[in-house]
Amino acid sequence: AHDLSKRFPGPKKLFAPARFVTAVDRVSLSVLPGETLAIVGESGSGKSTLGRLLLRLLAASEGRIFYQGEEITRAEGARLNQLRRELQIIFQDPFASLNPRMTVEQIVGEPLWLHQKMNKADRHFRVAELLKTVGLPAAWADRYPHEFSGGQRQRIGIARALASGPKLLLGDEPVSALDVSVQAQVVNLLESLKYQLGLTMVIVAHGLAVIRHMSDRVAVMYLGQIVELATVDEIFDAPLHPYTQALIASAPQMQPGTPRAIPLLQGDLPNPANPPSGCRFHTRCPFATDQCRQQEPINQVLEGGRQVACHRWQEINRDRSAILVAPP
Ligand code: SF4
Ligand code: MG
Repeated sequence: AHDLSKRFPGPKKLFAPARFVTAVDRVSLSVLPGETLAIVGESGSGKSTLGRLLLRLLAASEGRIFYQGEEITRAEGARLNQLRRELQIIFQDPFASLNPRMTVEQIVGEPLWLHQKMNKADRHFRVAELLKTVGLPAAWADRYPHEFSGGQRQRIGIARALASGPKLLLGDEPVSALDVSVQAQVVNLLESLKYQLGLTMVIVAHGLAVIRHMSDRVAVMYLGQIVELATVDEIFDAPLHPYTQALIASAPQMQPGTPRAIPLLQGDLPNPANPPSGCRFHTRCPFATDQCRQQEPINQVLEGGRQVACHRWQEINRDRSAILVAPP
């Protein structure tokens, strides 16, 4: 994706209504074949919108999208239908995304009928296969969504996404509506499907815990922009951007005894319709200066393709390593 932006009409009932909200603001990133890329951010950061732009489920206001070298920003008709098959989405709430009046066989079989015009007998057979692939008994195909638990419903949603034969699977907070005990099972399922089927995955998440074990690279979003993009180890072990540092520091599973050298995230996310001037993180950043308040930092691409958008990342991280290695 190159310089991608998406504006929505602003909310109407505010005292100072914005004409539009820029949910995604000049984002450039690549999803590499076979990788799992996580897009992380608070709600309102634009992460779900970015995911939908990449899949062509939403039309970009500006910018261009490429898929396997082909520009698909304005693909339509038969080509768009083909893309919709290859680029599939799994939703956060498996209950809301499944039609309650359809049986599992109808739900999972619908794409087979719509896209492939598969006949009923073949569909029956294929649905049974897909259910097995996601760890559900084929005999449950004539049941309705309400007869299943949250985790089972998410498996049905995954089976439906797989029915189209996707190359890329986008999970929009695929486990955040599930009980913690079930989350790991669905994460494991997605991981094994990825390897079995050679999928590329994009996982949109607001928390870091889930993505640590399943992603290769992480893009951190703040108010519509990517502030840092790096490998999962770089993000967790040596985050460069103050926002990423705050996210890591506030994540619950810190190793006991690790000194909290980094301040926790303070304050609320500013109104996305009216983002702060300069660096958008300046209202919550402990390192903010006048330059930060006035001038938007450019997204710097470092060696190895790592990206960071902060005026002061070098100073900050020099100071930080000094703090961490200082003798007691
Ligand atoms: Fe903080 Fe300034 Fe960096 Fe923004 S540019 S993250 S305000 S130090
Ligand atoms: Mg969302």
